[in-house]
Amino acid sequence: QTRVARALHTGELVLHYQPKVNLRTGEILGLEALLRWQHPDQGLVGPQHVLPMIEDVELEVELGEWVLREALAQMRQWTGAGMLWDVSVNIAATHFHRANFVERLKDILLTCPEVSPSRLELEILESAALQDMQYMPHMMQNCQALGVRFALDDFGTGYSSLSYLKRLRADSIKIDQSFVQGILEDTDDLTLAGAIIALAGAFGRHVVAEGVETPEQAAKLLELGCERAQGFGIARPMPANEVLAWARDHAARHASQVVQVAAKRPASL
Ligand code: C2E
Ligand code: MG
Ligand code: MG
Repeated sequence: QTRVARALHTGELVLHYQPKVNLRTGEILGLEALLRWQHPDQGLVGPQHVLPMIEDVELEVELGEWVLREALAQMRQWTGAGMLWDVSVNIAATHFHRANFVERLKDILLTCPEVSPSRLELEILESAALQDMQYMPHMMQNCQALGVRFALDDFGTGYSSLSYLKRLRADSIKIDQSFVQGILEDTDDLTLAGAIIALAGAFGRHVVAEGVETPEQAAKLLELGCERAQGFGIARPMPANEVLAWARDHAARHASQVVQVAAKRPASL
């Protein structure tokens, strides 16, 4: 924990960004900020190895606020380059439960007035959101009043009931990657993914598939009515300074696919 605190203060912690795209149009919808530790000896260390080391709530909050500030500063830089991408930030339940969370969020948003709060999305684990159904809907509304949006992360693992979903007014629902990865082989995963997509549609929420690795999975998701996706098959999380080049390549690749599809159509159409 002491080492993580030092890493935070010496700038060894960084954010990588994973694009979220529309599978049908290729449009880049935004990016998810994901924590990494650029460890001097061990190389790049993922959040699953960093976050469990933190037991101190103060440090967890300090880290969470750093992630928010860092993501907003990055959004400001992209905005300057004409890229008005949305960015999602993962928020730990203990951080979200701080009494002054909304006040602090407001102050952090004010440090980047060029970035509209509506372009910031806070991702809360579905399982964490369900822990306190008195508090969560109220807190989410207070944050939404500032303009920020919400996504329920790893959806399908938390046993939400329909009435919970009604009360948790998240803008998006992210289908847990375990279902997406089983979508072609496991009929239960297929059924679950289909049910979550239908549920999101019925409640008027966006639905995003996480962990899309293959074109076949993407095609199946489109068939089920889910157009928004994230996954290694689209792009791995990358350092901020690689995102603009990736976006240019992605646009060129997508344009060439459109041209190929058009070329295959009969001349009369
Ligand atoms: P998450 O928010 O559900 O993020 C998606 C995770 O799935 C990321 O792992 C990402 O690298 C990985 N992923 C994306 N596409 C694929 C794919 O196609 N296949 C596979 N196998 N994996 C894929 P990562 O970066 O290791 O993050 C793990 C979790 O750590 C995140 O899950 C999130 O819950 C948490 N986390 C990450 N950054 C932060 C942060 O800044 N703050 C907090 N509180 N939690 C964070
Ligand atoms: Mg997430
Ligand atoms: Mg997730």
